[in-house]
Amino acid sequence: MLLEVLIHGAMPRAEIAARLHLSRPTLTRVTRTLVLNGLLVEGETQLRSSTGRPSEMLHVRGDSHHFLGVKLTADRLYAAVTDLTAQVVDTVDQPLRSTDPADVVAQIADVAATFPALTAIGVTLGGIVHHGEVAQAEFLGWVNVPLRDDLVAATAIPTAVDNDVQALTSAEHWFGAGAGLSSMVLITVGAGVGCGVIVDGKLVRGAHGLPPRLAHILVDPSGPLCGYGHRGCASSYLMTHVMLRQLDGTPSYEEAVGRALAGDPEARRVFDNAGYALGVLIGTAANFLDPQKVLLTGEGLALYEVSEGRVREGIGASFEADPALIDLDVQPFDFSEWARSGAALAIRATLTQNLPT
Ligand SMILES: [Zn+2]
Repeated sequence: MLLEVLIHGAMPRAEIAARLHLSRPTLTRVTRTLVLNGLLVEGETQLRSSTGRPSEMLHVRGDSHHFLGVKLTADRLYAAVTDLTAQVVDTVDQPLRSTDPADVVAQIADVAATFPALTAIGVTLGGIVHHGEVAQAEFLGWVNVPLRDDLVAATAIPTAVDNDVQALTSAEHWFGAGAGLSSMVLITVGAGVGCGVIVDGKLVRGAHGLPPRLAHILVDPSGPLCGYGHRGCASSYLMTHVMLRQLDGTPSYEEAVGRALAGDPEARRVFDNAGYALGVLIGTAANFLDPQKVLLTGEGLALYEVSEGRVREGIGASFEADPALIDLDVQPFDFSEWARSGAALAIRATLTQNLPT
């Protein structure tokens, strides 16, 4: 019941009862428990058009709990504190003291100690995370770091750890543009290309704990090389540093966007090829899953604005049905979203109770 209101927003009691098939006595009992525990509040009464009877609105009491979300990069720690509805109430951003796991754990514990009464912590990073253990995070030089257990030992606060793109996918699915959808694909473009998949209302995880990795599908066998040595995979066109190193003087991403918009032929070619590769990636993901929505976001989103036409061409060349069936939702990205999605991970882990303490 709490999840229903959290994901879909405040709604009348009668609607919750109908959605969850609850009897009136059960509804009354559960509501009372959630109100007594300070998680839900009863708000104004609203007339329901279907029955004409008044029904009390139920709202989540956001300030009842606070969560710390942390995103780790190669050299910085981005943190956000949110309430139970994933609204950000505070942020912290600091350079990492070192990338040694013990130092990073101590630094996160120090940040956590500055916020009283945290219900849970969620930490995200680019890498392979399995049951709270960072199996591999290349950019930090980590292999098999039991980050979750070390953080629980250091903070005594329940903690969840996950891959950043998977956490972002879940955050969008509960609190963002994908709220309440049963199927969705999230694609992030930027330093790397990430994919997250929701099927039947659940985040897809493979048999070995690996997330879906669509970013290495072949676009053109004569294309550039990606970091894994694939020639012409979607990543090889889309990763920011691969795009930039093809340009004269290796400009910043902003400069490169400026050149492409100004019609510089070299920059145009790089952005157009990336746009086409993105279209193939979107079309292929849609072929696999026929999702309700494809959510496109990430710090490299300017690529879409620069070369939208080529994205559409890539979709047209790869998608096996009418491209109008693809609901492509382009979501502006702010780097703070990464830390917020760490907090959303903590909220999700708390409410689904798969959180060790
Ligand atoms: Zn590749």
